[in-house]
Amino acid sequence: MTYPNGKQALQDVSLDLHTPNLIGLLGPNGAGKSTLIKLLAAAQIPTSGTIQLDGVSLTQTERLLKAQLGYLPQDFGLFDELTVFQFLDYMAALKGLSDPKTAIQEIIRVVNLEEKATSKMDTLSGGQRQRVGIAQALLGYPPFLILDEPTVGLDPEERIHFRNLFSRLAQNRLILLSTHIIEDIQSVCNQLVVIDHGRILFTGTPTQMIQAAAGHVGVFWERQSNQGHGLTITARVNTSQGIRCRAVADILPDYVQPDEPTLEDAYLYLISRGTNK
Ligand code: ADP
Repeated sequence: MTYPNGKQALQDVSLDLHTPNLIGLLGPNGAGKSTLIKLLAAAQIPTSGTIQLDGVSLTQTERLLKAQLGYLPQDFGLFDELTVFQFLDYMAALKGLSDPKTAIQEIIRVVNLEEKATSKMDTLSGGQRQRVGIAQALLGYPPFLILDEPTVGLDPEERIHFRNLFSRLAQNRLILLSTHIIEDIQSVCNQLVVIDHGRILFTGTPTQMIQAAAGHVGVFWERQSNQGHGLTITARVNTSQGIRCRAVADILPDYVQPDEPTLEDAYLYLISRGTNK
């Protein structure tokens, strides 16, 4: 995918996604996550290559896809004058839902916005707007859900609520969600796709990702200023005995004691390898 200004946002991307599944798309800011999500939601057409749904090109199945897809883009705006209910009613009409009122009432309850149903969109907090965004994506419970940073602006309790909701819904759906927050996907995603600089660095299960980092993660006590050179420091903790560091590297120096990788270590290892190439 190359944007009109010449920016190549994705290259050599090849992915096979199957239902049911909860897939986490991970990568730093600017990695290409939103671009990939827009392509999969047919909100944007790739400048080369193809995307197929059940073997048929997305350009031919676009209408069918739109009827089956719940999509939360990163920015949905311009609806400030509508109330939450009116906005969802509008989205329900676009989706052609047969009993919109019941569906809207149900989804407003699921996202815990009953008290805000008659409030105008421009009076909502960031987290409340985000919950309206999730609500419109879930309206009618479509079989495909593509959610771009769904947990942005949500407090920890709400994040856990939605994480569990997505996990439940993924039992018989394909959900793809992008995030740069590891905890959002750690306990719920069966498949991870890590991208950086427009390329896929990893695709597999969280366990496989952790295994790939084994032997590349360790801890050490910071004694000299030259320690840490060539390592990616993932944590630095001041303790009564000194500064304890956690680091990832292709080859760990002798003074680093190997440790079991966490998913966050594994992610940082992948990204650091990609950057150092
Ligand atoms: P992410 O969602 O991972 O933060 P994006 O997909 O938004 O990344 O962006 C990937 C790259 O493409 C970035 O370098 C970004 O600046 C660039 N980009 C995104 N949208 C456009 C656009 N409309 N025109 C030009 N460049 C873009």
